[in-house]
Amino acid sequence: MVSDCLFCKIIAGEIPATIRYEDSQLVVFEDIDPQAPEHLLIVPKKHIMTTLDLTSADNELVGHIYQIAGKMARDFGFAEDGFRVVNNCNDAGGQMVWHLHFHLLGGRDMTWPPG
Ligand code: 5GP
Ligand code: ZN
Repeated sequence: MVSDCLFCKIIAGEIPATIRYEDSQLVVFEDIDPQAPEHLLIVPKKHIMTTLDLTSADNELVGHIYQIAGKMARDFGFAEDGFRVVNNCNDAGGQMVWHLHFHLLGGRDMTWPPG
């Protein structure tokens, strides 16, 4: 728990969020500013700042994140139609919250390339 980290506070229950799934390694909650009918954030409980801070010790965690992305898409009914998983890294990548997270977007047709 990093005391000035927004997502650590959500994980700790200090800031409210609409939690859709939780297990020992991660939480999934709704994005406050959804960019699709389904816009979930998959957030590891461990405070890792960016993708660049991942180490081999996190290999199982990242695999688990992707497995849960598929589970969420299936459970909430947009797997068959299709969905997108996005990780923004650092300023040019559009990262605004410095606690690793993966956007899971579904419920509409996506465009390519992303902005
Ligand atoms: P990033 O730009 O870092 O990849 O994504 C951060 C995401 O966090 C954004 O999509 C933004 O809407 C979302 N967000 C920012 N503040 C809050 C908050 O207080 N609660 C929730 N649920 N999402 C937030
Ligand atoms: Zn954090």
